[in-house]
Amino acid sequence: MDFTLTPEQEEFRKIVHEFAQTVVAPRAEAMDRAEELDEEVLDQMAGMGLFGLPFPEEYGGMGADYLTLCLAIEELARVDSSVAITLEAGVGLGAMPIWRFGSEEQRRRWLPGLASGEQLAAFGLTEPGGGSDAGAVRTRARQDGDEWVIDGTKAFITNAGLRRSALATIAAATGTRPDGRPEVTNIVVPLGTPGFTLGRGYSKVGWHASDTRELVFDGCRVPLANTLGERGSGLANFLRTLEEGRIAIAALATGLCQGCVDECVKYARERHAFGRPIAAFQAVAFKIADMELRAHTARLAWYHAAAKLTAGQPFAKEAAIAKLYASEAAVTSAREAVQVHGGYGYVNEFPVARFYRDAKVLEIGEGTSEVMRILIGRSLGL
Ligand SMILES: Cc1cc2nc3c(=O)[nH]c(=O)nc-3n(C[C@H](O)[C@H](O)[C@H](O)COP(=O)(O)OP(=O)(O)OC[C@H]3O[C@@H](n4cnc5c(N)ncnc54)[C@H](O)[C@@H]3O)c2cc1C
Repeated sequence: MDFTLTPEQEEFRKIVHEFAQTVVAPRAEAMDRAEELDEEVLDQMAGMGLFGLPFPEEYGGMGADYLTLCLAIEELARVDSSVAITLEAGVGLGAMPIWRFGSEEQRRRWLPGLASGEQLAAFGLTEPGGGSDAGAVRTRARQDGDEWVIDGTKAFITNAGLRRSALATIAAATGTRPDGRPEVTNIVVPLGTPGFTLGRGYSKVGWHASDTRELVFDGCRVPLANTLGERGSGLANFLRTLEEGRIAIAALATGLCQGCVDECVKYARERHAFGRPIAAFQAVAFKIADMELRAHTARLAWYHAAAKLTAGQPFAKEAAIAKLYASEAAVTSAREAVQVHGGYGYVNEFPVARFYRDAKVLEIGEGTSEVMRILIGRSLGL
């Protein structure tokens, strides 16, 4: 098995690496403090084609594979998780269901704007009543003539409140299945549709510059033509979207792990104690070696899952393993990175303090660690 990147993938990774280090990293602290992304950064990402990476050129995309998207996410997360999650949620969650499950007309209508990065999509599944039990959707869509009338609230939704936010792909209950559970259907709701309002942004522990808020639907009417995929297939389609998304979250977590290594190697060489650089103490060097070990292992895990996805093989178990391992590795590495920095690790000017705050959500979003263990257990027949 060969995990060597193709020359095109490696070239692209280097371009994003350079962009992340020279354009994103110098702005990361200010964006974190302002709790807002710099539109200039998003414009440049759009110009590089990042928002269209996995979509075919005929829809305005770059025609690259999912692994290439994940490479970009990893490199961005090495310096700034908020920027990385904006790309991940916009492309991997918001736009992807339109590409995977949309009709030809829907793809032509929405994908070019999203792929160009001029517009951004949000993915509306989670509700205030719960996220892990994704099938228990309470947001309702009632058919009235040739329209859906949507009522309900989505919670913790990424990317709905930016200047370029254009639409949300949501899951709504459109009836009741024979087993009593909701019949779930995906619907595209453009921002600005009467009856669709945005809640205030949450005050979060981390991912400060990433936009997260509630979506409120109150008698919101959209044409039936905005139905994405078959009526009733919405839960399966969103779960499939999340399966892929877990590979991207694992790549994001891997980037955070690698960022911890980058910062700690620099700091441990410069910082002196007892007349030597702290890197000379094995207790410190071993912590950094363990960070590199986790970053490397996490990368192999997500490369493996992405390779199976690209090959058209079942990848759900590998995606769950990669997401679970990489997110827990990120939390551990960020904690240790703060430790290596001593008191300065607890000060927001140092990237590792931000990494520490940003890491925790990786064990929660797109399926909690407990849900990942349930999925892995199920794959073993448990
Ligand atoms: C910053 C941020 C951004 C997000 N962005 C989005 C987005 O763009 N779109 C979107 O749809 N959602 C988004 N989410 C929501 C996220 O996916 C959910 O928070 C997550 O799925 C968990 O759901 P919950 O918060 O309702 O927790 P709950 O489901 O209420 O879980 C609470 C606890 O119970 C545990 N638990 C639940 N069920 C079980 C079980 N059967 N066995 C064992 N343990 C269990 C969980 O693991 C967890 O520890 C985001 C969340 C955050 C914090």
